[in-house]
Amino acid sequence: MNLETKFRQLPSVDKLLSEEHIKKLCQVFPRELVLDLIHQRLEEIRRSISQGESPPSLEEIVDSIESETRALESSPLQPVVNATGVILHTNLGRAPLSLETIEAMNQVSNCYSNLEFDLDRGRRGSRQVHIEHLLCQLTGAKAALVVNNNASGVLLALSALARGKEVIVSRGQAIEIGGGFRIPEVLRQSGAKLVEVGTTNCTYLTDYEQAITPRTKALLRVHSSNFKIIGFTQGVTLEELVELGQRHNLPVLDDLGSGCFIDTTKFGLEPEPRVQDSVSAGAALVFFSGDKLLGGPQAGIIVGKQELIDKLKRHPLARAARIDKVRLAGLVATLLHYLKGEALDKIPVLRLIAMPLTEIERRAERWLQLLGSPALIIPGESVVGGGSLPASSLPTRLVVIKLKAEAKVHDLARKLRQHRPPIIGRVEKNSLILDPRCVLPEEEESVTQALRLLFPSTHLDQTKEADTIS
Ligand SMILES: *Cc1c(COP(=O)(O)O)cnc(C)c1O
Repeated sequence: MNLETKFRQLPSVDKLLSEEHIKKLCQVFPRELVLDLIHQRLEEIRRSISQGESPPSLEEIVDSIESETRALESSPLQPVVNATGVILHTNLGRAPLSLETIEAMNQVSNCYSNLEFDLDRGRRGSRQVHIEHLLCQLTGAKAALVVNNNASGVLLALSALARGKEVIVSRGQAIEIGGGFRIPEVLRQSGAKLVEVGTTNCTYLTDYEQAITPRTKALLRVHSSNFKIIGFTQGVTLEELVELGQRHNLPVLDDLGSGCFIDTTKFGLEPEPRVQDSVSAGAALVFFSGDKLLGGPQAGIIVGKQELIDKLKRHPLARAARIDKVRLAGLVATLLHYLKGEALDKIPVLRLIAMPLTEIERRAERWLQLLGSPALIIPGESVVGGGSLPASSLPTRLVVIKLKAEAKVHDLARKLRQHRPPIIGRVEKNSLILDPRCVLPEEEESVTQALRLLFPSTHLDQTKEADTIS
């Protein structure tokens, strides 16, 4: 059969439009859209025919057009259950939010707000007033500014303070934060020259001091948030750096990465640097994320000296990096939890960190019951993640599903990902591992439902057994 004959076998556009399934699509979606997708599909089929493939049946064509149209409708961004054991998983959206935070975000979403309107004076205001006092109160700083995310905050500061000039940073802190993004490369976009001093494992105060020139505008400290160098190391404390800065009239900029307000050693974790400690040590500007250990929506928070914050606020990049009203409202609500002393009860990230082992154990056992023979519970470790506490972990109980072949494990992991909501575990060799720690109590039902669906026979056997025993 030649190509022409094959092409002629394809259904016409009119024929497709008269198909029952396509007619139904046209009732939900605009006819032009469906028509567009029909043309695209026919074009694809003609291309594959000319490459030697045989023409699909009418039914196959209708099916593919239907699923393509429906795919447009199913939102690609959806809730997933995090059973990976990494509490702050950047790929899974970092911090889940508190109920009050969600409520606050909702409240400003479906209406106008006084975002940049001063209700007392009846004229233009600043979106920053809603949060600045709160941040000053919590951290002891004199001024504060909130932007889109932490990386943009540091970029803004270097642009405003050191464009065309030099900023000194320890070589051991010139880090990559994941996803291939390197702090020094982001910061160079500011037009500042990063002068790296010291070696990977050792930097001394004299290294900084010798690098200071008339072109130096700031000393930068970056918290090595996602790795730890052990063995022979030497660093400079923030206090020493501040003292050096004072002698040379240079501000110390402190990128904390995660940044937190609480004492993480209470949970058996290493100390994560606290924002208020950096402020009281004399850092001129402190930078941290809203959605890491703080447990709020994505944001970049900058606190510090009034005069420097004012400079940042006036810089054109402040507009390019500004935060939107919804996340601003959410961040205020999250910060209020800290102010009211209820953070550990209300903020999901902190609740997950503080979750007692007995509760994790109880949930692991429930999952095990549904899984039956191929599964077992073993002691394991969860991590905080999200660029914080690289050398610490939290004790947990892991539900391990051992299968005969690695392919079967990947198959099971895929089925769990296809469940709605998707359940994300981790695959290690012949095992699929589920960590109950980061599964929020309200998501528990989704996991047990997925396990019941995927392991129906085991579940039935179990109930039967339970019946006979009782
Ligand atoms: C995570 C991190 C950043 C980037 O913060 P985002 O909020 O993701 O932009 C910058 N610096 C350090 C040290 C970090 O850990």
